[in-house]
Amino acid sequence: MSVTPRLRFAPSPTGFLHVGGARTALFNWLYARRHGGVFVLRIEDTDVRRSSDDLVAGILDGLRWLGIEWDEGPGVGGPHGPYLQSARLESYRTEVDRLLADGRAYRCFCLPEELQQRREAAQAKGGGWMYDRTCLQRREETTARLTNDGVPHAVRFRVPEGRTRFDDLVRGTIDVDNATIEDFVILRSDRHPTYHLSVVVDDIDMAITHVVRGDDHTSNTPKHLLLYDAFGASPPRFAHVPLIFGPDKKRMSKRHGATSVTDYRDRGYLPDAMVNFLALLGWSPGSDQELFTREALVEAFTLEGISGGNAVFDAEKLDWFNGQQIGLMPADVVVDALRPALEAAGLWRDDYAAGGGRRAWLAQVIDLLRSRVRFLADFVEYGRPFLADDVAYEPEAVEKRLSADGLAGHVTALREAYAAGEFTAAALETALRAVAETRGIKAGVLIHATRVGMTGRTVSPGLFEMVELIGRDRTLVRLRALEQFLVERGAVSS
Ligand code: GLU
Repeated sequence: MSVTPRLRFAPSPTGFLHVGGARTALFNWLYARRHGGVFVLRIEDTDVRRSSDDLVAGILDGLRWLGIEWDEGPGVGGPHGPYLQSARLESYRTEVDRLLADGRAYRCFCLPEELQQRREAAQAKGGGWMYDRTCLQRREETTARLTNDGVPHAVRFRVPEGRTRFDDLVRGTIDVDNATIEDFVILRSDRHPTYHLSVVVDDIDMAITHVVRGDDHTSNTPKHLLLYDAFGASPPRFAHVPLIFGPDKKRMSKRHGATSVTDYRDRGYLPDAMVNFLALLGWSPGSDQELFTREALVEAFTLEGISGGNAVFDAEKLDWFNGQQIGLMPADVVVDALRPALEAAGLWRDDYAAGGGRRAWLAQVIDLLRSRVRFLADFVEYGRPFLADDVAYEPEAVEKRLSADGLAGHVTALREAYAAGEFTAAALETALRAVAETRGIKAGVLIHATRVGMTGRTVSPGLFEMVELIGRDRTLVRLRALEQFLVERGAVSS
């Protein structure tokens, strides 16, 4: 009988959603979607001092932006709720009572200062220190009396002898001697659970079948397995994903640039580009393919494809993915996405919104510019010569491209040729070359000057395709303006 896979992303809202967390969420989501499973979002907000509603909202925002939607969790509900740990405190306390009754946990009255002293004393002798079970050895009556008197205490899990072993889907077999695991705290003296306890209680309650999480949790997993055993529950499969490093091989941090997912949103990255990029941080499809739609990722994703090696965050690669994903967007979708930016730049016209000819024309402009663009905002910049009437010449373009002798006359000849004849890219090119030949100049001279006249710049998409799209009327106006500029400049310099 096959069990429906149930995966979860369980962020602690002590900060924003960072790229590492987003990647963990994505891997869980991809696996769930690939196998017709369920993706649960659980907020691990038991650390009340460090968690806040704003941070939770920010995490939800980041996930929604990435299109990582959850089947159960905050705002959605589900049969295993509540999905905020702060609303589940009673269930942790009940489970702790069960472990206490079974003798699998014990109350610890040692004060933090005492523990610190014992740790320091051991370290001074050059040794490591693990909790020395002082409170396990305490007489039962003493423990009962202290408990009845309401003396604050923690509860520790009593680690049994033996070994703990598991097959990690990424890291292979991991086998530890329980003697190296201290009797860890499961309930703090403020009656809040520790992460180890709440994560296991919830993963059992929520029937989680696969835990995919960062490699920084690998060393916690043996403790979790001991708890599963103590609760008589069978554990999920574990996959510990390599951490993300900067290009300098240091763990990814603010030093390497933005680490918050919503920062990338605000800087104009597409969610699909971010998803594509994050998926390939530590996962490989087993081929050279890099560009994936979301659907293709779901289709290709396997936990076996997660590599044990470090994943390196390469910001330039992310830019590349952004450009590639823009390449996959239908022009019509780009038009709508650009509207706010075009409006802000004063380049929007209402007839672009309607389904008529102007919108189709704008879609053609987008298709022409697409291969040069990495950000949607680039369309606004590169699109300006198509969308605005006035052209301002960049001084550098003037100096570099408008100083040939007799240029004004050549441009006049070109304008006359363009005023008649066919106005297609191929015909425009033939006409320009014919003018150049007749006038005994290199075609390049006229091409470069025309580009400056049409755009004000030295670089642009293919000149003739561009001129065709800009259209005859506006082209003739621009060429006349260029002639005039050249004549005036000639007059000034002579
Ligand atoms: N709240 C933990 C964290 O954010 C979850 C770890 C886990 O997935 O078990 O690191």
